[in-house]
Amino acid sequence: MTLDLVTLLAAVTAATISLAIPVLFVAWRARVHHGLTLWGLGLVLNSLSYPVFGLRAWGWTDLSIVLTNLLTSLTLVLHTQAIASFQRERVQTLSQWAVWSPMALNMVVVAVFLHDDLLRNTLVAATQGLMAFMLLRQAWGPGLLERRLTGRWVLIGGAAMLFGALVCRTLFMVLASDWDPRYNVPSHVQAFTYFIVMAVVLINSMGFVLMQMERAIEQQRSLATHDALTGLYNRAALQDLLPMYGAQARRRGTPLAFLMLDIDHFKQVNDEHGHLAGDQVLKEVANRVRHGMRQSDFLARFGGEEFLAVLPATDGAGALVLAEKIRQSIEAEPVRFQEQGIAITISVGVSFGIPGESAKSLEELIAHSDQALYAAKSGGRNCVRLNSVPSQPV
Ligand code: GH3
Ligand code: MG
Ligand code: MG
Repeated sequence: MTLDLVTLLAAVTAATISLAIPVLFVAWRARVHHGLTLWGLGLVLNSLSYPVFGLRAWGWTDLSIVLTNLLTSLTLVLHTQAIASFQRERVQTLSQWAVWSPMALNMVVVAVFLHDDLLRNTLVAATQGLMAFMLLRQAWGPGLLERRLTGRWVLIGGAAMLFGALVCRTLFMVLASDWDPRYNVPSHVQAFTYFIVMAVVLINSMGFVLMQMERAIEQQRSLATHDALTGLYNRAALQDLLPMYGAQARRRGTPLAFLMLDIDHFKQVNDEHGHLAGDQVLKEVANRVRHGMRQSDFLARFGGEEFLAVLPATDGAGALVLAEKIRQSIEAEPVRFQEQGIAITISVGVSFGIPGESAKSLEELIAHSDQALYAAKSGGRNCVRLNSVPSQPV
């Protein structure tokens, strides 16, 4: 069975537009602003490039050459911009100049060498190869500040394929002198390039959509386990992870320490400076507490302005030292909010023990730290108190 050019172009157009419509629809309905709209628009332009290519069959050669180049290079630019928009703030994005100038070069080459097939085809392959490199560079994102998403590797694979194919095409046209420039690029090279370009559009779109999906899943997971204001773990995460800390301490026979931290007179901060100032204080206190702890320690927002720290393999003496260090770091410097400094202090209750041995349960250990906090509050605030569990040396 043979396929004529018109059928082939119509099939490719239909395939690409069928990809573009759901992408744009999802971007619009779900209000995804991470470049998905740009990606969909790129696909629309790409799908238009095939019928425009077909204009050659009706003798509209010059128009067809100019428009096909415009549409394919715009697709590459829009897709590079879409990836940049997705990665913004997590990685340094390419400058607009680096993204648009290869496309401008592409169009200048088309205009100047419109009737010189050999030079035009060679230089267009080279400039579009440069654009594929920009796409690859943006997908790679040197110094990316987030977990490497799997979809990104799909995108990198697609962009690398396109870059490789265009470099091969350029080299072929520079090195092979035995093809007839009037007859355009030899059909096997042309077919190779078209197959690659079509495959890359599919692979890259899959990669980009997967990246969006992966990030959305990660954000949902993070929302379910983290407090939105401070970024610390929430009570639900504490309930989930606490048994694991308990089991680990029991197995290793090492004590588990708890710090219950509470901001002193926090209600006054809200009353005197407003709730936004109160929120800023909460964020800053959370940061300073987190900063003083080890990577293996666990910190959760326990209530409104109460935090609970879980410290594995830490005895009373160690926990007291840490609690005191944290208390001092809060007292040392007022929290800045809109040009004013708000002096803050915290009180800390400490408890420790090996769950199942000296203390009956994790809940009991937490209750002990709460009692210690109460003692710190009655003891004048801005201090640390230890609720030593009977028969456990400090
Ligand atoms: P104490 O020294 O005894 O701890 O006094 P306090 O005023 O800090 O204690 P209290 O528990 O009476 O007040 C806690 C306040 O924390 C009351 C509530 O309005 C405020 N709060 C709780 N969650 C938030 C929040 O997310 N943002 C802000 N701005 N305030 C909060
Ligand atoms: Mg308080
Ligand atoms: Mg409180």
